[in-house]
Amino acid sequence: MERRDFLIGTGMTSALAALGWSVGPADAEGLVAARRYRVGAATVHVLSDGYIPLGPEMLNGVTPEEFASLLEAAHISSDLHPTAVNAFLVEIGESKIMIDAGAGDILGPTAGKLPEVMNAIGIDPADIDTVIFTHLHGDHIGGVVSPSGNPFINAALRVASADVDFWTNADIQAQAPDAFKPSFDLARAALGGFGDRVDAFGSGEVSLAPGLTTVPLPGHTVGHTGLMLESEGEALFITADIFHVPAVQLSMPGVTIGFDTDQELARQTRLRTLDMIATDRMMMGGSHVALPGLGHLDTAGDGYRWTTARHQYG
Ligand SMILES: [Zn+2]
Repeated sequence: MERRDFLIGTGMTSALAALGWSVGPADAEGLVAARRYRVGAATVHVLSDGYIPLGPEMLNGVTPEEFASLLEAAHISSDLHPTAVNAFLVEIGESKIMIDAGAGDILGPTAGKLPEVMNAIGIDPADIDTVIFTHLHGDHIGGVVSPSGNPFINAALRVASADVDFWTNADIQAQAPDAFKPSFDLARAALGGFGDRVDAFGSGEVSLAPGLTTVPLPGHTVGHTGLMLESEGEALFITADIFHVPAVQLSMPGVTIGFDTDQELARQTRLRTLDMIATDRMMMGGSHVALPGLGHLDTAGDGYRWTTARHQYG
């Protein structure tokens, strides 16, 4: 019997949940695949969709030698960085809001775990009233594009109109590098999965729910959007794809990734955002930060040091 089976079989799952842990089935190693965190009166579940192995060729501004030595310094014994993929479930009052939907089947077997994880913590996708896409990249939207269709059958979709306009534009698709052309088809399919329930928001700070406000973070995509969650004097800044390879980009924040639509704007947005988080001593959550996915930044040399959010007992 595996540890996971033991936990579920003895009812320990609910006991642990009562202590503030969300316990998921994750994988054969029995890893915890979700973490629950309270922000004031809101509850945030960081849900692991798995990870994507990324190599130095994906990054701009770092040599393979620097990449390897930064991974070694971070105690990652691999040539590839295991880039986490997270979605966030925010419960505010009666509302259940999903922020991003995982990769589904499109990025290989190490990602696409979100349905299992949601099932394990007892969340039915049909109970989600709002899905927010931080941007229209596959690792955030693939979960609604599957042979069985969009599981969020009752949810409205909120997404930046700038991203909708970009990723549904046939002229931009025609001019895009071949490697990026399928991303446009995927975005159209994901949007189509919500039918007439797509409700796009404009630029600027837009309130999507009580205490949940958009923060434009352009560059990674034109409409790339973070979310600020504020409740009862506490706050969490969900920064989406402000970085993808923390072991490298927190030490060298100028490093960009090939997926950034506008490399220079993405770099500037990252530098400004990381500085703000460190200066204001905020708690942040990242789409590509390994669980628990939440933490703090402090300046360290030319970059930043990550401190994982403290565990909430009880
Ligand atoms: Zn991403």
